[in-house]
Amino acid sequence: MMQADGYKYTEESKMGDCIFCKIVAGEIPSTKVFEDEVSYAFRDINPQAPVHILIVPKKHIGSCAEIEPEDEALVGKIFTNIAKIAKEEGLDKGFRVISNSGEDAGQTVHHLHYHILGGKSMGEGLVP
Ligand code: AMP
Ligand code: ZN
Repeated sequence: MMQADGYKYTEESKMGDCIFCKIVAGEIPSTKVFEDEVSYAFRDINPQAPVHILIVPKKHIGSCAEIEPEDEALVGKIFTNIAKIAKEEGLDKGFRVISNSGEDAGQTVHHLHYHILGGKSMGEGLVP
């Protein structure tokens, strides 16, 4: 389905059961950290580090596995925004960006999101 704003939404968000689409639409409250025309960043409700922010595209994309060539500029913009957010949050000593995609990765919300984690030393391992 093509919305008036030009975004295509999947069946999931059309049915109105995607919580991150609802957060972007302001239908579920969130603690906003950053917003631009294509993305929205907010604090994770169950933080795993002193700083734990999620950044999502406003357009519904299910996961990393569903990124299409037409999304390349959008995904690039999200990473520029991640750098900006990390700076604003004072994560000068470093931070980690994680995107769980699908069942084996333990993805629980099926709207593409990048976790920005920082504010403590997380060690060298990728998988805890
Ligand atoms: P994942 O397991 O990678 O799909 O991550 C989903 C993340 O969304 C988890 O870290 C949750 O704590 C977070 N989350 C779920 N619901 C909300 C919400 N309403 N507001 C903020 N974060 C949320
Ligand atoms: Zn969604």
